Amino acid sequence: MFGGDIVKEIPKSVAVIGAARSGIAAAKYFLVRGSRVFISDVCDRGWLDSTLNENQLYDGGVLLESEAGGHTDRILDYELIILSPGVRGDLDILKSAAARNIPVWSEMELGFRVSKAPFLAVTGSSGKSTTVSLLASVMSAAGFETALAGNIGTPVIDVTPFLSKDAVVVAEVSSFQLEAVDKFKPRAAAVINLMKNHLDRYACEDDYYNAKKLIAKNLTMGEYLVLNADDSRLSRWAEEFKGRTKIFMFGSRDCGGDCAYLSGKGINYRMNGVSGVIIDDTAAMRLAGRHNFMNACAAAAVALCAGADSKLIGRGLCAFGGLPHRLEFVGETGGVSFYNDSKSTTAESIECAVSAFGSKVLLIAGGKDKGCDFSAIVDSIRKNVKSIVLIGEAKERMAAVWEGVAPVTKAATLEEAVDTAFKNAARGERVVFSPGCSSFDMFRDFEHRGDIFRETVNNIVSRKAC
Ligand code: ADP
Repeated sequence: MFGGDIVKEIPKSVAVIGAARSGIAAAKYFLVRGSRVFISDVCDRGWLDSTLNENQLYDGGVLLESEAGGHTDRILDYELIILSPGVRGDLDILKSAAARNIPVWSEMELGFRVSKAPFLAVTGSSGKSTTVSLLASVMSAAGFETALAGNIGTPVIDVTPFLSKDAVVVAEVSSFQLEAVDKFKPRAAAVINLMKNHLDRYACEDDYYNAKKLIAKNLTMGEYLVLNADDSRLSRWAEEFKGRTKIFMFGSRDCGGDCAYLSGKGINYRMNGVSGVIIDDTAAMRLAGRHNFMNACAAAAVALCAGADSKLIGRGLCAFGGLPHRLEFVGETGGVSFYNDSKSTTAESIECAVSAFGSKVLLIAGGKDKGCDFSAIVDSIRKNVKSIVLIGEAKERMAAVWEGVAPVTKAATLEEAVDTAFKNAARGERVVFSPGCSSFDMFRDFEHRGDIFRETVNNIVSRKAC
């Protein structure tokens, strides 16, 4: 029977539920260490075999033992279960595993358990990838060997076995990964915001928030919990956790106590009674928008908790050039600039995008309707948008909501929408593609959608250059 101490003892047998990126990484980890590994997935047999083949998951020259089309009791024959984030934590098979005391870990828990390097973990509803990327840039600028992993792409188990205790792991953590943690104990854990989300997976809003709260479950007075003071629910968490762990707040104003906050044009901090400046002017950052300045405050707060030198934090924040598809500058012609915000799938994201520049923008929006409340951002549209071009399934509903708020045109394709917005734009103005909807009506995913936007802009730019 496996005792749970992965550093001293490798389990003889491991079942991995879910054959996506982190499940495959976990399977490889155990396979090379001599465990008998079994993979279970709901996909069909052909897909599973080709995934195992592509990833060269062979044991003794034959494909790993596996089951396709669902999860059966065979899983209970193994000493440890690794649960992939795409798999629901309320499966019956997991209840049976609990009854038999078979440990069930997320790949995040596994990566943490094998790591000598401390974790800086970030969760939240929006801005996780941007915040961890900022944080990784900051920790590198502050001289730490830094590994960026987790939900952002690289499985933690692919990096943590190779790090020394002096390195840091900057981990983006989803609520799904947190559902199966046990000893996970980051040196600093941040929850950057909480918004209604994933109600397809959770029975109610509170279940989702409680999953996020698991990031703090093992924190003590030796670690920090970093919370957003502008979020009323997270301010209540600060009260709840005070006395159990050290609290560090961030926000749009001085939050009292230890904090990093927007102050005038810049970002300031206070820690252990010492105050200072992180950045004089956020205009020095390569990211735009108040939401990104809040993400920068969160990253600065975590970095301070991790012992980064406050003078180097600003340098790391300013060095980060942004992620693709998040208000990404993609080109300029005739004095008109184009921004790709294809990652935007909610009304709130449209609001962040259009209010980022301090001048009126030409908005392209629309896509597959997720039922967002677009009337909630009418004031922001009125204030920040010169005209709107709508595409996709949601265009009629969005047009009806925004009628009279700003001039609206509808387009059949994204290419046509870009042409129309460009024609309406004057020198010095910005065209912002922030769909506020999912992409599946017209595109494979948000990356594909953003790539088509970028390509269309490139075509316009090169046409104009001829
Ligand atoms: P996540 O990894 O949580 O999905 P990203 O960093 O990829 O977040 O950002 C996705 C979108 O979320 C951005 O394009 C922006 O519209 C929105 N966003 C980013 N940061 C914030 C924030 N701090 N508050 C609200 N919305 C944000």
